[in-house]
Amino acid sequence: MSIVLERLNKVQADISQRNNNPNPSTKIIAVTKTFELDHVKPLINHGHIHFGENKVQEATNKWKETKKLNAKIKLHMLGKLQTNKVKSAVEIFDYIHSLDNKKLADTIKKYENQMGKKLFHFIQVNFADEKQKSGILPSDAVSFYGYCKNEIHLNVIGLMCFPPFGKDPTSFFKLAYDLNNKLELKELSMGMSNDYLKAINFGSTFVRIGSALFGERKI
Ligand SMILES: *Cc1c(COP(=O)(O)O)cnc(C)c1O
Repeated sequence: MSIVLERLNKVQADISQRNNNPNPSTKIIAVTKTFELDHVKPLINHGHIHFGENKVQEATNKWKETKKLNAKIKLHMLGKLQTNKVKSAVEIFDYIHSLDNKKLADTIKKYENQMGKKLFHFIQVNFADEKQKSGILPSDAVSFYGYCKNEIHLNVIGLMCFPPFGKDPTSFFKLAYDLNNKLELKELSMGMSNDYLKAINFGSTFVRIGSALFGERKI
């Protein structure tokens, strides 16, 4: 068995064994950014469904043909999305985790209508108020969700949380869990290679795992 598939099985087992996991069906997004498709192949051949990238161009180059050949693959956009890249993003991705402003929401809606598609969206919330990071502020999240849902009818399925590096993520996961419940959203995108077990303690339904599957990234 390939090492990458072994690691996936281990992460899967860890998640299943978690006793107080409120959502045992947590899905693993294999984050393939910077890695060549050859390195990812064992997971594709294994039938893994969810893959994540953080750049539109890289995702298109890497996944366009592969998605045609493997129709059940779902591709997740995890990185910041500029409005001038939205058209290509709506073409290649199935889920967007970085919805965080009205202009972006409006642009996504425009292209979804044009292409007759409806993607799944997560609203990224900047719980730590980090200036350099994308995400809407928690105080604006309720009204922004209302706008997306009721005014432009985007299919928002949950919140996305990306806690600050080098800090204990627990308090941020708790904030995300509470706000997600308040909004009655069903999905929750949080947890990465170093903290996914903590994230599922707070109800994460999509963990985003890169280095724990594919090894350290060079860039
Ligand atoms: C790169 C990335 C991940 C995966 O990070 P790892 O620590 O390698 O698991 C998850 N989420 C986002 C938004 C990322 O950009």
